[in-house]
Amino acid sequence: MLKGPEKRQKEFIDLCRRRGMRVTGQRLEVYREIAENLDHPSADMIYEAVRKRVPAISLDTVYRTLDTLEEFGLIYRVNEVCARAHFDANLEPHHHFFCVRCNNVLDVPPVWKDREEIQDKMADYGRVKSVSLQIRGICNKCEQITELEKEKESWQASKEPKPKRTC
Ligand SMILES: [Zn+2]
Ligand SMILES: [Zn+2]
Repeated sequence: MLKGPEKRQKEFIDLCRRRGMRVTGQRLEVYREIAENLDHPSADMIYEAVRKRVPAISLDTVYRTLDTLEEFGLIYRVNEVCARAHFDANLEPHHHFFCVRCNNVLDVPPVWKDREEIQDKMADYGRVKSVSLQIRGICNKCEQITELEKEKESWQASKEPKPKRTC
Protein backbone atom coordinates (compact mmCIF):
# COMPACT_ATOMS: atom_id res chain seq x y z
CA MET A 1 0.00 0.00 0.00
CA LEU A 2 1.12 3.53 -0.68
CA LYS A 3 1.46 5.72 2.35
CA GLY A 4 -0.69 8.71 3.19
CA PRO A 5 0.66 12.24 3.48
CA GLU A 6 0.41 12.47 7.27
CA LYS A 7 2.57 9.46 7.78
CA ARG A 8 4.98 10.83 5.23
CA GLN A 9 5.28 14.15 7.06
CA LYS A 10 6.21 12.40 10.27
CA GLU A 11 8.69 10.29 8.42
CA PHE A 12 10.00 13.42 6.75
CA ILE A 13 10.89 15.06 10.04
CA ASP A 14 12.50 11.83 11.28
CA LEU A 15 14.46 11.43 8.07
CA CYS A 16 15.65 15.05 8.16
CA ARG A 17 17.00 14.54 11.66
CA ARG A 18 18.71 11.30 10.78
CA ARG A 19 20.25 12.73 7.64
CA GLY A 20 21.34 15.91 9.37
CA MET A 21 19.15 18.34 7.48
CA ARG A 22 17.73 21.21 9.49
CA VAL A 23 13.92 21.37 9.31
CA THR A 24 12.93 24.96 8.58
CA GLY A 25 9.39 26.28 8.14
CA GLN A 26 9.96 26.89 4.44
CA ARG A 27 11.39 23.43 3.83
CA LEU A 28 8.44 21.87 5.62
CA GLU A 29 5.95 23.92 3.59
CA VAL A 30 7.57 23.00 0.28
CA TYR A 31 7.73 19.35 1.29
CA ARG A 32 4.11 19.37 2.47
CA GLU A 33 2.97 20.70 -0.86
CA ILE A 34 4.58 17.77 -2.64
CA ALA A 35 3.57 15.12 -0.10
CA GLU A 36 -0.02 16.18 0.50
CA ASN A 37 -1.24 16.69 -3.00
CA LEU A 38 0.10 13.49 -4.48
CA ASP A 39 -0.09 15.03 -7.91
CA HIS A 40 3.59 15.49 -8.61
CA PRO A 41 3.64 19.28 -8.91
CA SER A 42 6.21 21.30 -10.82
CA ALA A 43 8.31 24.00 -9.13
CA ASP A 44 5.91 26.69 -10.37
CA MET A 45 2.89 24.92 -8.93
CA ILE A 46 4.66 24.47 -5.60
CA TYR A 47 5.60 28.13 -5.55
CA GLU A 48 2.04 29.29 -6.29
CA ALA A 49 0.61 27.10 -3.54
CA VAL A 50 3.22 27.80 -0.85
CA ARG A 51 3.05 31.53 -1.53
CA LYS A 52 -0.52 31.54 -0.20
CA ARG A 53 0.71 30.38 3.20
CA VAL A 54 4.16 31.96 3.15
CA PRO A 55 3.85 35.21 1.17
CA ALA A 56 7.52 36.08 1.66
CA ILE A 57 8.80 33.01 -0.18
CA SER A 58 10.42 33.56 -3.59
CA LEU A 59 10.54 31.23 -6.58
CA ASP A 60 14.28 31.17 -6.12
CA THR A 61 13.91 29.89 -2.57
CA VAL A 62 11.53 27.20 -3.81
CA TYR A 63 14.12 26.06 -6.36
CA ARG A 64 16.88 26.04 -3.76
CA THR A 65 14.67 24.17 -1.28
CA LEU A 66 13.82 21.57 -3.93
CA ASP A 67 17.53 21.09 -4.64
CA THR A 68 18.24 20.63 -0.94
CA LEU A 69 15.38 18.19 -0.41
CA GLU A 70 16.53 16.21 -3.43
CA GLU A 71 20.12 16.22 -2.24
CA PHE A 72 19.03 14.66 1.04
CA GLY A 73 16.97 12.06 -0.78
CA LEU A 74 13.64 13.28 0.58
CA ILE A 75 12.02 13.92 -2.77
CA TYR A 76 12.98 13.14 -6.32
CA ARG A 77 12.42 14.49 -9.76
CA VAL A 78 9.95 12.86 -12.10
CA ASN A 79 11.15 13.53 -15.62
CA GLU A 80 8.87 11.33 -17.69
CA VAL A 81 5.88 13.67 -17.47
CA CYS A 82 6.98 16.49 -19.72
CA ALA A 83 9.99 18.67 -20.35
CA ARG A 84 9.64 20.38 -16.97
CA ALA A 85 10.62 18.57 -13.76
CA HIS A 86 7.87 17.44 -11.42
CA PHE A 87 8.51 16.45 -7.83
CA ASP A 88 7.54 13.38 -5.88
CA ALA A 89 7.68 12.76 -2.14
CA ASN A 90 6.64 9.14 -2.41
CA LEU A 91 9.86 7.24 -1.85
CA GLU A 92 8.22 3.81 -2.00
CA PRO A 93 8.74 1.85 -5.21
CA HIS A 94 5.95 2.81 -7.59
CA HIS A 95 5.20 3.65 -11.19
CA HIS A 96 3.49 6.66 -12.67
CA PHE A 97 0.32 6.60 -14.67
CA PHE A 98 0.30 9.67 -16.87
CA CYS A 99 -3.12 10.77 -18.10
CA VAL A 100 -2.81 12.17 -21.59
CA ARG A 101 -6.12 14.00 -21.22
CA CYS A 102 -5.80 15.90 -17.91
CA ASN A 103 -1.99 15.66 -17.54
CA ASN A 104 -2.28 14.27 -14.02
CA VAL A 105 0.34 11.89 -12.74
CA LEU A 106 -0.97 9.10 -10.53
CA ASP A 107 1.07 6.85 -8.28
CA VAL A 108 0.44 3.22 -9.04
CA PRO A 109 1.81 0.17 -7.22
CA PRO A 110 4.74 -1.59 -8.87
CA VAL A 111 3.80 -4.23 -11.40
CA TRP A 112 6.67 -6.37 -10.20
CA LYS A 113 6.95 -7.68 -6.68
CA ASP A 114 10.61 -6.89 -6.32
CA ARG A 115 13.83 -6.34 -8.18
CA GLU A 116 14.70 -10.02 -8.03
CA GLU A 117 11.63 -10.89 -10.04
CA ILE A 118 12.71 -8.54 -12.82
CA GLN A 119 16.26 -9.81 -12.66
CA ASP A 120 15.01 -13.40 -12.97
CA LYS A 121 13.10 -12.52 -16.11
CA MET A 122 16.08 -10.65 -17.53
CA ALA A 123 18.65 -13.28 -16.65
CA ASP A 124 19.07 -14.34 -20.29
CA TYR A 125 19.76 -10.77 -21.36
CA GLY A 126 21.93 -9.23 -18.69
CA ARG A 127 22.11 -7.67 -15.25
CA VAL A 128 19.44 -5.11 -14.34
CA LYS A 129 20.69 -1.83 -12.89
CA SER A 130 17.55 0.26 -13.01
CA VAL A 131 14.05 -0.04 -14.37
CA SER A 132 11.78 2.66 -15.68
CA LEU A 133 8.33 2.08 -17.00
CA GLN A 134 6.16 4.65 -18.69
CA ILE A 135 2.43 4.16 -18.42
CA ARG A 136 0.30 6.57 -20.41
CA GLY A 137 -3.44 6.45 -20.72
CA ILE A 138 -6.73 8.05 -19.77
CA CYS A 139 -7.43 8.09 -16.05
CA ASN A 140 -10.70 6.84 -14.58
CA LYS A 141 -11.82 10.36 -13.76
CA CYS A 142 -11.47 11.48 -17.37
CA GLU A 143 -13.07 8.25 -18.56
CA GLN A 144 -16.08 8.94 -16.33
CA ILE A 145 -16.44 12.46 -17.66
CA THR A 146 -16.48 11.05 -21.18
CA GLU A 147 -19.18 8.53 -20.24
CA LEU A 148 -21.33 11.27 -18.72
CA GLU A 149 -20.98 13.34 -21.84
CA LYS A 150 -22.05 10.43 -23.99
CA GLU A 151 -25.16 10.01 -21.87
CA LYS A 152 -26.05 13.63 -22.24
CA GLU A 153 -25.35 13.39 -25.96
CA SER A 154 -24.00 16.89 -25.84
CA TRP A 155 -21.26 16.33 -28.32
CA GLN A 156 -21.19 19.93 -29.38
CA ALA A 157 -20.53 21.09 -25.83
CA SER A 158 -17.89 18.44 -25.28
CA LYS A 159 -15.87 19.81 -28.14
CA GLU A 160 -14.85 22.68 -25.92
CA PRO A 161 -11.40 21.96 -24.52
CA LYS A 162 -11.45 20.62 -20.99
CA PRO A 163 -9.36 22.37 -18.34
CA LYS A 164 -6.01 20.66 -18.68
CA ARG A 165 -3.34 20.87 -16.06
CA THR A 166 -0.53 22.96 -17.42
CA CYS A 167 2.78 21.20 -17.31
ZN1 LIG B 1 -7.25 12.25 -16.59
ZN1 LIG C 1 4.99 9.24 -7.75
